[in-house]
Amino acid sequence: MRSHLLNDTTAEHYRRSVTEGVERVAAKLATTTRPFTGVTADALAPRIDAIDLDRPLHDTAAALDELEDVYLRDAVYFHHPRYLAHLNCPVVIPAVLGEAVLSAVNSSLDTWDQSAGGTLIERRIIDWTTGRIGLGPAADGVFTSGGTQSNLQALLLAREEAKTDDLARLRVFASEVSHFSVQKSAKLLGLGPDAVVSIPVDHDKRLRTAALARELERCAEAGLVPMAVVATAGTTDFGSIDPLPEIAGLCERYGAWMHVDAAYGCGLLASLKYRDRIDGIERADSVTVDYHKSFFQPVSSSAVLVRDAATLRHATYHAEYLNPRRMVTERIPNQVDKSLQTTRRFDALKLWMTLRVMGADGIGELFDEVCDLASEGWKLLAADPRFDVVVEPSLSTLVFRHIPAAVTDPAEIDRANLYARKALFASGDAVVAGTKVAGRHYLKFTLLNPETTTADISAVLDLIAGHAEQYLGESLDRAC
Ligand SMILES: *Cc1c(COP(=O)(O)O)cnc(C)c1O
Repeated sequence: MRSHLLNDTTAEHYRRSVTEGVERVAAKLATTTRPFTGVTADALAPRIDAIDLDRPLHDTAAALDELEDVYLRDAVYFHHPRYLAHLNCPVVIPAVLGEAVLSAVNSSLDTWDQSAGGTLIERRIIDWTTGRIGLGPAADGVFTSGGTQSNLQALLLAREEAKTDDLARLRVFASEVSHFSVQKSAKLLGLGPDAVVSIPVDHDKRLRTAALARELERCAEAGLVPMAVVATAGTTDFGSIDPLPEIAGLCERYGAWMHVDAAYGCGLLASLKYRDRIDGIERADSVTVDYHKSFFQPVSSSAVLVRDAATLRHATYHAEYLNPRRMVTERIPNQVDKSLQTTRRFDALKLWMTLRVMGADGIGELFDEVCDLASEGWKLLAADPRFDVVVEPSLSTLVFRHIPAAVTDPAEIDRANLYARKALFASGDAVVAGTKVAGRHYLKFTLLNPETTTADISAVLDLIAGHAEQYLGESLDRAC
């Protein structure tokens, strides 16, 4: 069994195994003709259940053959130009190379004595990011597992910086289309059930600052404490960007921590054309970025950044077995002092390799392309009488619904759109997402693949219309 340990004597085995796996995936990517096979959980489960995990194959090629059967064949492929559903990006090769290196060396970024240069590389990537945001000379941050954890940590810091220990009096303000991790965080942080105040959005799905000002005023009048305002720079559903400068002004006036959730919109930090859309982000107290959404990085790759490094102390605990207090005076850099996690992946290496091979402009160019594609898609939808489209995109998301010519019953239109999404998924021809707008069912394209063309968008719209019409034809038959 020792031959399976990666070490000085097994270099050849390592090289062969990994190369074999890379070959399989490369062959798969080259021959994938659809983003999905349409397999159902019921069809796939027996194949996976049938595998006896206590009877190993003792053979890499056989295990890869089996993997083809239980995973690779039916996986959902984000690199395919007709995968248009969620905030998943195709990944860039330098980052995948970084991933291979980081898991083989397996540094753990909690302490210097488990990572050495890894710690310094992560710190450079953090500094690079805070520089792009413009957070100033005292800024810092740390990599996290994802935007959910980044938001949680940011709100933890905000809670600790708030001017009261009475958790029941704390209020967090976020738009009605902010990410659900704001609510989850409030719960985890022990805030009251009414802690998160939902602020309405305007026609473009941007937080209404007048409503925010009113709620902040009411909060003050009621003797409550405005702990934080969460501004979303790229909502999950619409890609809409809250008015950051106005929100920053209100945060200053009411003494609230300004958190910018840029899990999605962070791609603009590298943009060559649209960076100004997130102007005002530099006034934040904390920022969430998900490189695994708009920097074309593999999951996971995320960070929380703060204006004032000192606020990270709220996540600091010292343990004799890991990071004793004396190490601070000895100037030993232990990233665990800033993190909610202990053992932690060296995810920063993926972005490091990306910046070293492609450069930030390379990432920005790709992200600009998907933003431009969304604008083109919006024009197509706006000009197409078969569809109703919600907002002109600020990033790369399109939310729309099929409006059949002869149908006026909104519930029937809902059912036709739900059916179209399901039928499309089952066919595997394309994958699209769905959401609700004003109580009605809509469909969603999240465009993160620069390989997707307007022809793909047109073709998928035709497929959607076809499935919806088929549903309506059948429901007409049922009614007769
Ligand atoms: C995706 C997303 C998150 C959560 O990030 P994960 O990496 O999925 O945990 C938070 N906020 C916004 C706006 C998002 O789009």
